[in-house]
Amino acid sequence: MSKHRRASLFETAHGHVRTCACCPALEVRFGNALLALGPDDLPHVLDQLEAAESHECDVTLLMGETGSGWVFTADEAAELHRLVAGARLMLDVAA
Ligand SMILES: [Zn+2]
Repeated sequence: MSKHRRASLFETAHGHVRTCACCPALEVRFGNALLALGPDDLPHVLDQLEAAESHECDVTLLMGETGSGWVFTADEAAELHRLVAGARLMLDVAA
């Protein structure tokens, strides 16, 4: 079991974002993808998803300087966008 104490922040049909009681890390779960993000990463992720919004093809989401990332279909990317945007909104409300 993880030592982290998670609480749900925001959910969509295929994903959820959870906060932790002990640290600022966010756990973004979407389908098979599990992204560990800091609150400061959210704008970067949202920028990539917004830039991809007009595309009809697969969307590649790169994680910072790690060289790793995920590929989503346009529909998945749109839902992930709603998920991350919703989470950021909830964080803003809580701040
Ligand atoms: Zn933690």
